Amino acid sequence: MQNYQQILEEIQLELQPYLHKGTVANYIPALSKVNPNQFAMSITLFDGTTYSVGCSQSRFSIQSISKVFTFTKALNIYRHNLYKKVGREPSGNPFNSLVQLEYEKGIPRNPFINAGAIVVTDALLTHYQKTEKTFENILTFIQEVSDNQNIGYDPMVWRSECEHGFRNLALANLMKSFGNLENEASSTVETYFKHCAITMNTQELARSILFLANHGIDPINGKKFITSDQAKRINAVMLTCGHYDASGDFAFHVGLPAKSGVGGGIVAVVPKKMGIAVFSPRLNSWGNSLLGTKALELFTAKTGFSIF
Ligand code: GLU
Repeated sequence: MQNYQQILEEIQLELQPYLHKGTVANYIPALSKVNPNQFAMSITLFDGTTYSVGCSQSRFSIQSISKVFTFTKALNIYRHNLYKKVGREPSGNPFNSLVQLEYEKGIPRNPFINAGAIVVTDALLTHYQKTEKTFENILTFIQEVSDNQNIGYDPMVWRSECEHGFRNLALANLMKSFGNLENEASSTVETYFKHCAITMNTQELARSILFLANHGIDPINGKKFITSDQAKRINAVMLTCGHYDASGDFAFHVGLPAKSGVGGGIVAVVPKKMGIAVFSPRLNSWGNSLLGTKALELFTAKTGFSIF
């Protein structure tokens, strides 16, 4: 077996020269207040063994990583019918773009760009009927896949995004005008902002994603969350759409299904082996963690664990 702890320590060391590169997301004011010079990386194996470096116990805003869990939940509820409202093609556009949505008549390309995730949240709202109940179900699902009841959200980040999330409200209203939003635009985006404001650390995230590395079944406690077929498709969408318009670049350099968030986190799946999470809040120009992306590239180069 590879010496994972040593590999993580090597990666941390090799990344030192890049620690001050990139910028923290500031369009959500509460996110701009985090210490920019943080780094953490964790991997969790199928037997539950976890290896970490850096501030792996400090929680951060998972932001768009939450879209993996909402997509999983909605797919479970709506099955193939979900794709009437949201596609599964890479967008080739920034995460918050309005342009494509206009000429594609309010049907977002995939569930991981903001418009797609808002539609997914809308579908969950329709199912659970109340905003509180919808959020509770999303959070409970994340707690279940993480096997951790203590995961919660940051109300300051939530409120901050509610006060400044103008583009997301515009996306929701545009989809509503095309008849692709069933609930009120404002309550849909508020619920979306709330699940984006969930906080986790890299140890918790690496644990939470294991079910996707094991055909939908938690390898540690044996709980089945989704079918093998669904797990395959979620991984495929993570690979092709998990990093917005940099998804191709990420696949080229890293070669794993993964999802990033503007809070600086990235989760990645090594099929049949492990879950990985990295955190570093400075972002590259596409809105993905700069150090996080490099760390994952180094990890797959050193271990040979890419899917290609
Ligand atoms: N809540 C963020 C937004 O809607 C999520 C974006 C991201 O993490 O990429 O802008």
